[in-house]
This record gives sequence, structure tokens and C-alpha cells, in this order.
Amino acid sequence: RAKADGRGTFRFYDARLDDELQRRRRLSAELRDALATNALALHFQPLMDAGSGRIVGYEALARWPHPERGWVPPATFIALAEQTGLIEDLGVWVLRAACREAARWPAPLTVAVNLSPAQFRRDGAIAEFVSVALRESGLAPERLELEITESLLMARTEPVLRALRELRGLGVSIAMDDFGTGYSSLAHLWRFPLDRVKLDREFTQSLADDAKVGVIVGSVVSMAHALGMSVTAEGVETEAQRQALAAHGCDVLQGFLLGRPAAPDRLPHQNNQNADKALV
Ligand code: C2E
Ligand code: MG
Ligand code: MG
Ligand code: MG
Repeated sequence: RAKADGRGTFRFYDARLDDELQRRRRLSAELRDALATNALALHFQPLMDAGSGRIVGYEALARWPHPERGWVPPATFIALAEQTGLIEDLGVWVLRAACREAARWPAPLTVAVNLSPAQFRRDGAIAEFVSVALRESGLAPERLELEITESLLMARTEPVLRALRELRGLGVSIAMDDFGTGYSSLAHLWRFPLDRVKLDREFTQSLADDAKVGVIVGSVVSMAHALGMSVTAEGVETEAQRQALAAHGCDVLQGFLLGRPAAPDRLPHQNNQNADKALV
């Protein structure tokens, strides 16, 4: 009896695995299709100067409005694109669309674009794609920031370092995204050419719970500043968090309190004639 149960259970899991595989194959074919038919979208979330409350730019976030499933979260479809190799084409689409959009904003508003480690796999490719996106949009390179993650810095150190130097050479800036969550190594902060550290949302959220978090935030800020980098805090949802992060010296704030990701025709700087005076 136990045996039969065991086999039954096994078959059950087997079928589930099969279903999951099918589901992923279908989703991945649909993603390929969405990219080919220009059905993906970019939303933009405001980045706010902590001192003045002015909008200084936006982060571009990929969106997939699926005809049956609704909005598929990027955590799902970006990972899928990474596994299937679609990420290179998707990444190029994001870069081009983000630069094209940002070129219509009043200067000096910036745009930040997320890069996946997979986009660094072919030597020389990423700098070429960025250079093309800048050229065809006419966006000034200093208005483009590229967000990388620490996982990129873990392997293939030399080629990645070369790619980051090439990108910097184009005049764009580099931000380390989600800092403090992964294998945060202090060596990353000096070994790689970085202009900005984005403190992960986790710090913002834990700030009120434990005084130790404030010590870490303050220390990362002083270290970053001493190394010539700026600091952005992610996930700002409350006024108390905004004030604490500003008091700790964070330069730029990002979060639902200051503005949710929105379609390009609904960005807050457009509510105001003068982007410099725009407040959310
Ligand atoms: P990320 O780059 O760290 O982007 C910030 C994420 O935090 C976004 O989620 C944003 O909507 C969310 N967020 C912003 N403010 C708040 C807040 O106050 N509270 C909370 N709870 N969340 C907040 P989203 O759009 O779901 O994107 C998730 C991740 O997917 C991004 O994290 C990024 O790693 C990845 N991603 C998104 N678009 C792209 C893309 O075009 N290319 C690549 N490679 N990755 C992307
Ligand atoms: Mg990001
Ligand atoms: Mg982030
Ligand atoms: Mg994050």
C-alpha cells in the first residue's frame, strides 16, 4: 500500500513537473512573440533628489501586458528571458525604447536602465548596443545610467571590468542595484568603475525596526561619498523613511511614496512646465 502511494505520489509530481515545463515553454514562446510584435511596454519610476524634492530622472522598468494573464511581473519574465537567451534581444529593446523616451524629456532628466548579467556574456556587445541606442535616440550619454547587480561582478571579472570601462568611456554612468542583499563585497566598491550605489529596499524597510540598520546605511553613504559615488535609497514608502534616509545622507530617493512606475505619457514632470519645479 505504501508502495502504491509512493508510486502515485511520484507520478503526481512527474505530471506537475511536465505541466510546469509546458507552461514555461508556452510563456517563453509568448514572450518572444510579444517582443517581436512590440507588445512589451516600459514604465518609468521617478528618482527624486533627497534634499530639494526635485525629480532628477526615472528608472525604466519593463512591463508585459499579457492578453490573458494580465501584467506578468518582470521577476517572472526577465528570469525566463535569461534562461531562454531572449534577454539579449529584450535588453536591446529596453535600451532603445528607454533612450528614445528619455530624449523627449527636458534635460537634464536622466533615465536608468537595468542590465542583466546575461547581457555581458558576449565581449564588446553591450557597449555596442548602448552606443547604438544613444546614437539613434540622440540622448546625451550623461543622461543614461546603467544598473548592474553584484551577481555580474562575481564571475568573469576581467571581461566584465573591460565592458564597464567601455561603457564608462561612452560617457554613461554605472549604478550598482540592490546593494546589500547579495554577496556584497566591499571590494566591488573600489574594484569596479561605479558612479552610484542603490541601497536595496530591505534597508529602507528595516530602518525603523533596528538602529543597527541606520548605522549601516550611514556607513555605506559615507563610504560611497568618500569614493566619489552617489547613493540612492530604494523602496521609500513612508514619510518617516524619507526623512530618515535624507538625514543619513542618501542623495536620491525612489519609492511608492514619491511615485509609482507609470506609462510614459503619465510622468509627473509633465504636470509642470518646468521639470525643475516638479514635485510629486
Ligand atoms: P529593481 O531594478 O530593483 O527595480 C525596482 C523594483 O522595485 C521595481 O519592481 C519597482 O516597481 C519596485 N518598487 C519601487 N518602489 C517601491 C516601493 O516603494 N515599494 C515596493 N514594495 N516596491 C517598489 P518591478 O518593476 O517589479 O521590477 C522588479 C525587478 O525586475 C527590477 O528590480 C529589476 O531587477 C528587474 N527588471 C525590471 N525591468 C527590467 C529590465 O528592463 N531589464 C532587466 N534586466 N531587469 C529588469
Ligand atoms: Mg533597478
Ligand atoms: Mg533596484
Ligand atoms: Mg530592488
